[in-house]
Amino acid sequence: MYRKTAHALREGFLKGEYTASQIASYFLQRIQLLDQDLNAFLNIISDRVMQKAEELDIKKGKGEPIGKLAGVPIALKDNIHIRGESTTCASRFLSNYTAPFDATVTKLIEAEDGLILGKTNLDEFAMGSSTEKSAYQVTRNPWNLSCSPGGSSGGSAAAVGGRLCPLALGSDTGGSIRQPASFTGTVGYKPTYGRVSRFGLVAFGSSLDQIGPFANSVEDIAMIMEVIGRPCEYDSTSIDANPENYLDHLSTSLQGKKVGVPWKFLEDFSGPSADHFAKGLQTFKDLGVEIVEVELQKLKYSIPIYYILSTAEASTNLARFDGVRYGKRSEKADSIDAIYDLSRAEGFGDEVKQRILLGTFVLSSGYQDAYYRKAQRVRTLLIREFEQAYKKCDIVALPTTPTPAFEIDSIPDPLQMYLQDLYTICANLAGLPAMSIPVGLDSNKMPHSIQLLGPQLADGRVMHFAYQLEKALALSSFIPPLFDKEVQL
Ligand code: GLN
Repeated sequence: MYRKTAHALREGFLKGEYTASQIASYFLQRIQLLDQDLNAFLNIISDRVMQKAEELDIKKGKGEPIGKLAGVPIALKDNIHIRGESTTCASRFLSNYTAPFDATVTKLIEAEDGLILGKTNLDEFAMGSSTEKSAYQVTRNPWNLSCSPGGSSGGSAAAVGGRLCPLALGSDTGGSIRQPASFTGTVGYKPTYGRVSRFGLVAFGSSLDQIGPFANSVEDIAMIMEVIGRPCEYDSTSIDANPENYLDHLSTSLQGKKVGVPWKFLEDFSGPSADHFAKGLQTFKDLGVEIVEVELQKLKYSIPIYYILSTAEASTNLARFDGVRYGKRSEKADSIDAIYDLSRAEGFGDEVKQRILLGTFVLSSGYQDAYYRKAQRVRTLLIREFEQAYKKCDIVALPTTPTPAFEIDSIPDPLQMYLQDLYTICANLAGLPAMSIPVGLDSNKMPHSIQLLGPQLADGRVMHFAYQLEKALALSSFIPPLFDKEVQL
């Protein structure tokens, strides 16, 4: 069962090859035995998922209509709410916090009979690129346990890569779905900003955050996007468009289409990641796609713009963690000021504190114009450049990451870590849909990917190009050897 895609698992369930309860207990067992090596999960919600599976089996037995995700096990990043379960954001601050409501994505998944198995590890409050900044545990890469799975959604990526579940959700503010997808050889998708509701996702940078899926096939991405990509009245930035039938449009030919590459920006890009990027482009050429050059000169400012805007937004979003309303309150506090100071001092880790300081600085009077407003202006220029680029091509291709997965503890310098998102941040700044698709393994047996970015709202187009690429690459047995085995309690 672990080798099956979500699509195939659902088919097997519909045909009666196994029950939903059998699927749920199979994957719970797999997690229990294999997650000791990965540390992908923070919380496994066994009783709840077994109950949902039994309800689904009864429903099927009665011949009632069955949902689009029927019998598909799914994991959620631990910054997405499930009512009555903990949401820690991998922070000490929220170690005692229980979600009082369901996120919209949680509701939509369960309404379509998906089976939510548990919550996955992340960098604290989704700030990081390695999942090393979790207050609880370090997640490992299923292809090489001494390497990082990337971050911040490293738990979801490792869970899908290690075949502990066929689907998982992450959140992507600057690359946190696509970079870990690339490191773990999975498909990772950040939808158009506003496509998926952020209601019930703990906010980091609200103008950048987007929930999206990890899977082992593009088809599975399309399948879950049909379920979660819906308008939501509780998110004021939700796009008021009917969900599309992505699955119906995957198989048409790409003959005559154009992929744009900003070659000038990629001048210094070399090594095995560049070789795989080239392989992806060559595969498109073989499919009859023309590769054209596009100008995206503002891409070089992505990182500075992002670390001004995302920290500014984070500093205001995280102001709610004051020791009064949510999570931990310092036991040493003996005055109202001390509650704020000590709760925040004790509750947040260093990376989060650093970002709150930076964000508060760029928003402070006297500096707001020099940093925050200027960054907003450059963001607008970047959006316009993409609009121009899409007059010349259907899809823009970029690498997902500059390198394959790095060793755990090998990047102590935060600025060095920030460079991980060189190629991913632009999609968040411009609100574009973007997907990372595996292209192959290097001589160290580590995965490499290519990233495809579409114009705003062209989610279906990104999936179509990705599906055709995936099919043409035909990567056989793309499963980490350590996890390509049956296990039994
Ligand atoms: N790695 C980036 C950061 O540290 C992106 C994080 C994210 O997308 N949540 O902010």
